[in-house]
Amino acid sequence: MGINSDVEVYLCSVHLIPTGEPGVCSECGRELVGCHPGDPDDPCRRPLMDQHGRILTRAPLWWLRYSVTDLAKRFQPKD
Ligand SMILES: [Zn+2]
Repeated sequence: MGINSDVEVYLCSVHLIPTGEPGVCSECGRELVGCHPGDPDDPCRRPLMDQHGRILTRAPLWWLRYSVTDLAKRFQPKD
C-alpha cells in the first residue's frame, strides 16, 4: 500500500477527462467512472500485453478494468 493507493479519479469513458469529483462529463453528459489508478510502480499502470510481451492496447490496465472489464480479466497479471 503506497501513499496514493486510495486516490480516486473520475473519468468520462469517452473523453478521458480526469476530475477529482463524481458527476457527469462536461463534453457529453455521460456519468463519470470512478477509478483507482494505483501507485506509480503498480503493474496495473502498464498497458495490456499478451504472453509474448506484445502490447495490445495503449490504455493502462487500471483503465481497461473499468472500460472493458471482461477483456482485462483475461489478461490479469498473476499476483
Ligand atoms: Zn464525455
